[in-house]
Amino acid sequence: MDPQSIFCHNSDCCASGRVGAGNIGIHSRKDRRYICHECNTTFTETKGTAFYRLRTPRDTVVIVVTLLAYGCPMQAIVAAFGFDERTIVHWQERAGKQGERVHEHLVGQPRDLGQVQGDEIRVKKQGGIVWMAMALQVQTRLWLGGVLSVHRDGQLITALIQKVRACALCRPLLFCVDGCQTYVGAIQRVFREPLRTGKRGRPRLRPWDNIYIAQVVKQYARKRVVAVKRRVVQGSSAQINALLQQTQRGGQINTSYIERLNATFRSRMAALVRRGRALARQTETLHYAMYLMGSVYNFCTYHKSLRVPVYLPGNRRRWISRTPAVAAGLTDHLWTVEELLSFRVPLPPWKPTKRRGRPSNVTKELTAR
Ligand SMILES: [Zn+2]
Repeated sequence: MDPQSIFCHNSDCCASGRVGAGNIGIHSRKDRRYICHECNTTFTETKGTAFYRLRTPRDTVVIVVTLLAYGCPMQAIVAAFGFDERTIVHWQERAGKQGERVHEHLVGQPRDLGQVQGDEIRVKKQGGIVWMAMALQVQTRLWLGGVLSVHRDGQLITALIQKVRACALCRPLLFCVDGCQTYVGAIQRVFREPLRTGKRGRPRLRPWDNIYIAQVVKQYARKRVVAVKRRVVQGSSAQINALLQQTQRGGQINTSYIERLNATFRSRMAALVRRGRALARQTETLHYAMYLMGSVYNFCTYHKSLRVPVYLPGNRRRWISRTPAVAAGLTDHLWTVEELLSFRVPLPPWKPTKRRGRPSNVTKELTAR
């Protein structure tokens, strides 16, 4: 047990979310509980992780979640382990929530994205269909998040673009998307910033510079692609070619990276397999399954095309494997699924509740600490 890496989870405590401040001590080694000396509350080691208050041994939960993240049908797990189906659905939900928290904390940070590809897939669920829109950074193959909606409309696309914006720095950024017209408006609407002048009223919104949009429109006849049209919607061909050169070593405008990722999702999410029988009942279940799979893809699986050669003396060469998260510089090693599930996402620092009037001396002292 290491109190130095633990923080207090009590939102009313002035040391909440602070790591290494010396306020955490060991309360009980037998029960594996910590104590916060600032607010005098005790909490278990698994607080803030996906294992919190689970009665099944940790190893078993990790195995079941790993199987789920690689597309093992729920019925197979029920038959093999003898758990109730609802238990497994519950674990998947927990693991998905944890994946989403880790994703938002580590992936949802501004970075130079270079090229982003977005696409939607049609998912059959019980009693209808839903659309799953996802985005990917081409250079690192990092999955940037996804959204689900019953309709393939502006709302879905805007929500996806907002996910991308959360990860973007104001640097040259190329979007390669399909022919869906809503993308253009959504990108132009979301990538704007208020221009504050100090005058009264709502500030004017100024679009970001260096946002380029290219579309790949496929024409189908009898469910087969017969022609591919590439069009530049925003920016010049020269600028787009420079970004393509930088992010994928040249080549044409394409959406093949995100389409490859869609194929991975289809094979690793039992509910997404075409003509499969393991359909999801709730959109919520699909959301958690998507975040579980996405975070396992980002953090826990090596991507073959991301490996880099290391040249050793004597003309020898060794390959170093990387996960998308390593390639993006979010971590330095391959995570195990257990590591993903037990990662403690830091809490936002404590802020005193707003009160009218002059702050009391106690509040002043707590905020200063
Ligand atoms: Zn505390």
